[in-house]
Amino acid sequence: MPRPLPDDLLQVPHRRDVPFSRLTTLGVGGVCRWLFEPRTELEAQAFVRACAREGLPWRVLGGGSNLVVLGDLQVPVLRLAFPKEIRLEGRQLTAPASHGHIALAEAAAAAGLSGLEFASGIPGSLGGAIRMNAGAYGREWIDVLVRYRFLSPEGDLVEKAPQPGEFSYRWSFLSGGHVVLSATADLVEGDPARIRAQVAEYREKRGTSQPLSKRNAGCIFKNPPGQSAGRLIDSAGLKGLRLGDAEVSPEHANFLVNHGRATAQEFADLMDQVRSRVLEVHGVTLEPEVEIWRE
Ligand SMILES: Cc1cc2nc3c(=O)[nH]c(=O)nc-3n(C[C@H](O)[C@H](O)[C@H](O)COP(=O)(O)OP(=O)(O)OC[C@H]3O[C@@H](n4cnc5c(N)ncnc54)[C@H](O)[C@@H]3O)c2cc1C
Repeated sequence: MPRPLPDDLLQVPHRRDVPFSRLTTLGVGGVCRWLFEPRTELEAQAFVRACAREGLPWRVLGGGSNLVVLGDLQVPVLRLAFPKEIRLEGRQLTAPASHGHIALAEAAAAAGLSGLEFASGIPGSLGGAIRMNAGAYGREWIDVLVRYRFLSPEGDLVEKAPQPGEFSYRWSFLSGGHVVLSATADLVEGDPARIRAQVAEYREKRGTSQPLSKRNAGCIFKNPPGQSAGRLIDSAGLKGLRLGDAEVSPEHANFLVNHGRATAQEFADLMDQVRSRVLEVHGVTLEPEVEIWRE
């Protein structure tokens, strides 16, 4: 029997029983029993403090573009719902963590600021992108990040510049109970037409190499050092491998796609099959880039 949640936690705006299929880009998963959606930093802080005090496990969700959720989750899930305000001070752009990542890249381009073009095809939220140190085309968030605000696992508010060792390839120290609240990118002034052309080129590349017409969660496995996960999966003959409605994309081997009725378990099983086959054929252990959540 799950414990009742404390009153101060229940003061934070929340919804009950939201299917993860509506909260993730892959469109699968069980039910999120408690979805907390604070509209201010103070409400987010109240959430984290109450959970820390009660010793309650919890999770933070962004745009759900890097997630597979297995089964229902009883633990409170935090999803920031801050107003989507962008602040521009000279070349520095600050946005709340709940801001859409692609929309942020578009806003920078519209302001004639260069540096976030790489982000223009990466979905999800800014908070998720900072946490994952998201990147593409040889650039990643740590290249432009100058300040960020977050809550510690105890709920203390911290604002700081990034330090060496805090971010690396698709990794940051922000897992394990930190909540990114906002981030500031230091950009450079550029020619708006050139910035738009670069964004269009990246979009075109994605459109021709990625299965964007089907629900997916981006690259499933990290590239092992010096190698491409997609090439390893492809040369192991796994393109088109299918479990129910979950398939290794025939267009891009490192994408798994949902043909409509796939389940989270099918995706998890398909990932296991791909990993074991790549290990057998190439002797390489693939590390997941997507996260798998289960209670
Ligand atoms: C079509 C497609 C293309 C993609 N291309 C790329 C790419 O080129 N490069 C790339 O790096 N990724 C790519 N991705 C993966 C994904 O978009 C990124 O990892 C993205 O940054 C995840 O953000 P999110 O808000 O969706 O995070 P979620 O999937 O919601 O969560 C991912 C992780 O971030 C944590 N998190 C979320 N919000 C916060 C927060 N506010 N504070 C602390 N932790 C938080 C979650 O707890 C979880 O651990 C792609 C995905 C898709 C679907």
